[in-house]
Amino acid sequence: MKIGVPIEIKNHENRVGMTPSGVFELTKRNHTVFVQKNAGFGSGFFDSDYVKAGATILDTIEEVYDAAEMIVKVKEPIEKEYTLIKSHHTVFTYFHFASSEALTKAMIKSKSVCIASETVENADGSLPLLIPMSEVAGRMSIQQGAKYLEKPIKGRGILLGGVPGVPPAKVLVLGAGIVGYQAAKMAAGLGALVIIMDINMKALRYVSDSMPNNVISEFSSEYNIRKHIKDADLIIGGVLIKGAKAPKLITRDMLKEMRPGTVIVDVAVDQGGCFETTRPTTHEEPTYIIDDVVHYSVANMPGAVPYTSTMALTNVTLPYVIKLANEGWEKACEHSAPLAKGLNVVKGKIVYKEIADAFDLQF
Ligand code: NAD
Repeated sequence: MKIGVPIEIKNHENRVGMTPSGVFELTKRNHTVFVQKNAGFGSGFFDSDYVKAGATILDTIEEVYDAAEMIVKVKEPIEKEYTLIKSHHTVFTYFHFASSEALTKAMIKSKSVCIASETVENADGSLPLLIPMSEVAGRMSIQQGAKYLEKPIKGRGILLGGVPGVPPAKVLVLGAGIVGYQAAKMAAGLGALVIIMDINMKALRYVSDSMPNNVISEFSSEYNIRKHIKDADLIIGGVLIKGAKAPKLITRDMLKEMRPGTVIVDVAVDQGGCFETTRPTTHEEPTYIIDDVVHYSVANMPGAVPYTSTMALTNVTLPYVIKLANEGWEKACEHSAPLAKGLNVVKGKIVYKEIADAFDLQF
């Protein structure tokens, strides 16, 4: 199959749909890969790396789309890309259709096959192509939290791990899913005292069995949260109720109970946030302060570490890309139930009910 890897043109997107290593896996299976000039540059991969892996470099995005049968990218197409997508294309990327009627209608019109990374789903309901981004965001939340706890950026001025003779910081992690677990692991590694909360006993048992002694698991309740926010230095929000808005676990009045300079990082911002005072921020201006509490709520945290994020993402997408390339979309989706769940718009029709429902369109 002929596969195209265009440059991401959405603002501030430095990730790329395939690494040279992924290209190598495809070319060795006799597929042809066209990579747009400089497509990997933002993630730290050079055109020469792709050429060594067997790719052909093309100058323009139009050439890549014209040459390819399947497009592998990261972000949802933006308006400029709509008309590049034609009926002979299979497009494998994050689409987030439910948040854009314009994109949904454009893809229906294109008559292409749209496979959305975010809806590829395992039999147990887990979303394998979202997990790596939660892992990145969870680990990064502590890195960012540690930075904003420094005094010059209005934090409490405390080192997460303390030093000999000085106690470490206290980190409260809400949610013991992918984000929360990774956050707790990082904070524990730096020597902080970590309290991690969830309402899912299975998740808490796993934390209790696998984490070091400076991580304490506790059932999530308003009472317990109020108890810990008084002396927590850093609070991480990583809760998720699938398909719903995040519950507001930290309410506005609770900010007054925190010490000045406390940092709160709401990773769940993309689901509306689990702190009442959360509003989405960007990497250009990641924080704001309310009641002397530093809020960090960047909606696309992994975008700041494209090298790690691209590799983490392509590690999990590559097996599906290989399957699609080897078998074509119809057979590949017939043989792989998780991949079939990724089918959102096929040849002019919406095939994913929630997307049709979102805009009252035909399913
Ligand atoms: P997950 O499903 O693995 O974990 C969520 C956890 O929250 C679950 O264990 C669940 O039991 C728990 N939970 C639900 N209600 C709770 C409550 N009242 N108290 C405590 N815990 C509760 O989800 P995840 O992959 O860890 O993702 C968490 C959030 O982070 C999601 O909203 C996700 O979209 C978001 N996210 C944001 C970014 C970013 O850049 N900001 C990146 C990746 C993920």
